[in-house]
Amino acid sequence: MSIMDVTMTDRCLVCEKNLWEPIYKVLLRCRSCGFITSNLDISEEELETIYNHNYFHGREYGNYIADKRIIQKNFMSRLNILLKYVNNSQKKSIFEIGSAYGFFLELANNYFKSVSGIDISADAINYIQTNYPWIHANRGEYSDYNIEQRHDIYCLWDTIEHIKRPDIYIDKIARDINADGLIALTTGDIESLNAKIQRNRWRLIHPPTHLHYFSKKTIEILLNRYGFEILYSSYASSYMSLNHIFYITLVVNKKMPQIYEILRKLHITNFSVRVNMHDVMYIIARKKN
Ligand SMILES: [Zn+2]
Repeated sequence: MSIMDVTMTDRCLVCEKNLWEPIYKVLLRCRSCGFITSNLDISEEELETIYNHNYFHGREYGNYIADKRIIQKNFMSRLNILLKYVNNSQKKSIFEIGSAYGFFLELANNYFKSVSGIDISADAINYIQTNYPWIHANRGEYSDYNIEQRHDIYCLWDTIEHIKRPDIYIDKIARDINADGLIALTTGDIESLNAKIQRNRWRLIHPPTHLHYFSKKTIEILLNRYGFEILYSSYASSYMSLNHIFYITLVVNKKMPQIYEILRKLHITNFSVRVNMHDVMYIIARKKN
């Protein structure tokens, strides 16, 4: 992975200006709109390599599939909010970008006419095709995806910060979406109080998986640019399994796997807690006609 001097070459993907200043170690801040991005030049092949089996089993998640119950608890609370903005969901189709192992689409299938999704991870898409054959799952980059049909709702759960060019994705969604369609997304808020206090130690700063860092202001500018108006904007609470918390703190960060193993054997890791650190934005926006 090479570090590229984007200060000279790349325009801000939110406001299209070219006025960068360095912030923290590998991040740049747009002096015009405040958008923050990593100055990593990373190829699509490198991204595909990042999101292999190990990403979901050990590297970023302890074990994504084992945490299914808690992951779906979180998706259900997001889905309940989304459903308030959808009339006649049984007649609508939903498409998820970054669908991972299909845990959201499995739930959404109970409320929508059709569910489909795309993910760059071959491992994740294979899992969906084996376990949920009724989900239309596609492997690849959404920006390269030739649509078979338009959809009413596009979801990006904690995904937009991973994408190399979110502006291209939002532009494509704006062209692929049905009239009055919705985008629902979650992503970290780098202007949140917690992010400002934690600075470069904020838990959501980790390039190269998190390439971009939005705020309520910059995500709104980007969505407005492609004709979306924000209907709902809040901070998402989430259930966290103690397994995930202990895994991150003891194994990934502190390198104390022996203590993690003891807690796991005592079944302490089986519980979950609901937290809202007010630093993950939940945005729902509608395409203006
Ligand atoms: Zn900008």
